[in-house]
Amino acid sequence: MDKLHLLRLRFPVVITYKHNLKWKGKHACSGLYEWDKHNRTHTITVEMGRSSVDTRNIIAHEYIHAWQCEQGLKLSHGLVFKWWAEFFNNNYGYSISRIQ
Ligand SMILES: [Zn+2]
Repeated sequence: MDKLHLLRLRFPVVITYKHNLKWKGKHACSGLYEWDKHNRTHTITVEMGRSSVDTRNIIAHEYIHAWQCEQGLKLSHGLVFKWWAEFFNNNYGYSISRIQ
């Protein structure tokens, strides 16, 4: 999470790890982002058992969604997401994928 502070998130991030992570209960995925409106926190769930490099990139991917949420933007992998992914990939050695 060394450079993700550059996203200047206002709300805290809670990261948990889970086996067999599924999006919408059926699609296998490596990371999930959710806004917890009760606790006003960003919750990121990462699939357990991934390498530390993979985990770093999965978390970075979800942080970009957290930023989109704080900006009131739709959670997507469009141009804004691509801009942030390339910013971290090109400047800080991440390898953030647009698909997760
Ligand atoms: Zn995503």
